[in-house]
Amino acid sequence: MTTADVPDVPVTATPAPPEVELLAGRAATVGGVGVHRLLPQRARRLVGAWCFADHLRQVPAAEPARLDVGPHPHMGLQTVTWVVAGEVLHRDSLGSEQLVRPGQLNLMTAGYGVSHSEEGAATSGGTVQGVQLWIAQPAATRNGPAAFEHHPQLPSPSLGAGRATVLVGTLAGATSPARRDTDHMGAELELRPGRAVLPLDPAYEHALAVVEGAVRLGASTVAPGALAYLGTGRSELVVEPDAPARALLMGGVPFPEPVLMWWNYVGRDRDELAAAHRSWTDDDGRFGRVASPLARLTAPGPPWAATRSPHPLAAPGHDGPV
Ligand code: MN
Repeated sequence: MTTADVPDVPVTATPAPPEVELLAGRAATVGGVGVHRLLPQRARRLVGAWCFADHLRQVPAAEPARLDVGPHPHMGLQTVTWVVAGEVLHRDSLGSEQLVRPGQLNLMTAGYGVSHSEEGAATSGGTVQGVQLWIAQPAATRNGPAAFEHHPQLPSPSLGAGRATVLVGTLAGATSPARRDTDHMGAELELRPGRAVLPLDPAYEHALAVVEGAVRLGASTVAPGALAYLGTGRSELVVEPDAPARALLMGGVPFPEPVLMWWNYVGRDRDELAAAHRSWTDDDGRFGRVASPLARLTAPGPPWAATRSPHPLAAPGHDGPV
């Protein structure tokens, strides 16, 4: 390519950043805890490689619910468990047994197959608040071995009116030690009233989920239960909370391939999702075993492989993705 290929654009023509797109989450229940399902959305399947986001919205109440998600399979994705209150005990088929507390990260890589359970621990009344996220794995690793990482400490750069905790990737010059198979980032933002400026990678698309409080983004106000999609092409994000707020920023280079998700599997076509589910249903060893006191989760077969099974994403009567 030569400079002759570059369009003759005046240097003053800086494109305006894309509009903030507010996407309402859907109410769901996971392991006895109410969640806002923020991803996937009909209008927005992915943000970078981020393909699933549940905000556990259970608040301390008369009958605090205990998060109890029995052993279930995963394929082709990483699970990111981010707790802001309470504790969750993770057990998986690799033999991992790891409590995750606020400020820490549990990151499980499924690859070709893994299974895990998530159990609400007894402290904080068993009440858990946090975000459960999935990251789609790229072709290079998605059929590879499973793995698990626990990060008890993460970098925490200042943002002016607030600070971040970088779960994965880089923000404000601070880089998480967590494994990363694609070019993406995720960070918790603890914001004070005022103005925080977050430097962003314009090659990434970004989205913001508010967990506590509310955050103004230009003319939009983002509150819990919605996902603010920010698009690509931004080199910074100015956030202005009126009161203390907590949010999750996720971003990444737009994922290069279409992904297909069903139940707890991320793949590329129906056949591989159906094959994975047969392995789980038959308990043929592909997903291993979890040493959990909780019952193994099941789901009817995929809707394209059966005549009567409703789609788990739309069916409240049984276990959806967890
Ligand atoms: Mn899971």
